Amino acid sequence: MKCASGIEARQVDELFINIDPIQAGGRLTAEAMKAVIAYGDGYSVCDNCRKPNRLDYIAKPPIAEFHKDVAKWLNMDAVRTVPGARRGFQAVAQTYVKKGDPVLLTSLSHYTEFLAIEEAGGVAREIPANDQKLVTPDAAAAKIEAVKKELGKAPVLAFIDHVDYQYGNLHDFAAIAKVAHQYDIPVVYNGAYTVGILPVDGKALGADFVVGSGHKSMAAPAPSGILAVTAEREKEVFRTTAIVGDVTNRKFGIKEPEMIGCTLMGATLIGMMASFPHVRQRTKHFDRELANHAVVMDALLSIEGTKCLSEYPRKHTMTRVDTTASFDRIAESHKKRGYFLQSALEERGVTGVIPGATKVWKFNTYGTTHKQALHLAKAFVEIARENGLAVKG
Ligand SMILES: *Cc1c(COP(=O)(O)O)cnc(C)c1O
Repeated sequence: MKCASGIEARQVDELFINIDPIQAGGRLTAEAMKAVIAYGDGYSVCDNCRKPNRLDYIAKPPIAEFHKDVAKWLNMDAVRTVPGARRGFQAVAQTYVKKGDPVLLTSLSHYTEFLAIEEAGGVAREIPANDQKLVTPDAAAAKIEAVKKELGKAPVLAFIDHVDYQYGNLHDFAAIAKVAHQYDIPVVYNGAYTVGILPVDGKALGADFVVGSGHKSMAAPAPSGILAVTAEREKEVFRTTAIVGDVTNRKFGIKEPEMIGCTLMGATLIGMMASFPHVRQRTKHFDRELANHAVVMDALLSIEGTKCLSEYPRKHTMTRVDTTASFDRIAESHKKRGYFLQSALEERGVTGVIPGATKVWKFNTYGTTHKQALHLAKAFVEIARENGLAVKG
């Protein structure tokens, strides 16, 4: 089946259990799929845009209401939608970071945080994670002091990932934010792996800004995301335009420079909105997701030589494992080499593990049913046994 000449219809999540670490939480709901079709046309949300013209004021479809609902859901005061978490980081960095300003992030931070700092002219300073691959408040305090010594000023902003993309570890955001606030450093809560996955209470966490990714964790089309802020920060990040044209004397009302006026104007926004009721519900059942994840982890760890590189027991469904002493030993002599694992998984209806990876790789069981989790567990154990690896228990 083709969308058009040269463009195959994609059938991945229809045909496989997809454990791709970055795709599991972004898989669309049926409602979002309908929204994509209905609102695919350019500027399709603008039919009923009335004065004051701005995306977050549109009442039909209920975009204004969605903004209020998301703010309440995250326990923050104001929300805008953005084309990806990265654009949320960018808006915050552009607001607070001047050339040469130090900005705090961590040794596990995502590249998009670095790039947001770079674009604003800031200097990136990483809080090192400890041996357990966790970022601690003590390390944050030590780094802030070190930055002050080195550059003569404290960081002007901090980006802290609640769950990092490398290990899927859950860091003590609230404690780190508390330390940062002692130095008057506003803190961005990077919820790329949490907003839409597990409950997030921005105020309780002490976040000045909460950033979420629609396409990673809110069952929304790409590029989409949210930026939520406290009332204190609202007038800074969401300040309105003051520019005036010298020939025409034109002004642009309540448009916001950091949002370049309006952001998501069609299928991305309506897709995110259509999934929201489901997403809101699913965050209340993260315990089930962890239980399913444990089924798969137990199976993997029963294969002799397999190690979990993430914190254990797991607090998130995205995990990094080391199979150098198990699956990679098979790869050495298998006729398909490193591709045997992906190939054996696909034979069993499982996809999402990087082709050729048999040493260190990540997977995410988010959204699998219990039955699918059992199937995944069985698949890994069967592949191990078939290839002569010892399985405990
Ligand atoms: C995926 C990811 C991002 C980027 O999210 P986008 O919505 O694609 O911009 C940022 N930070 C972390 C930790 C991520 O995992």
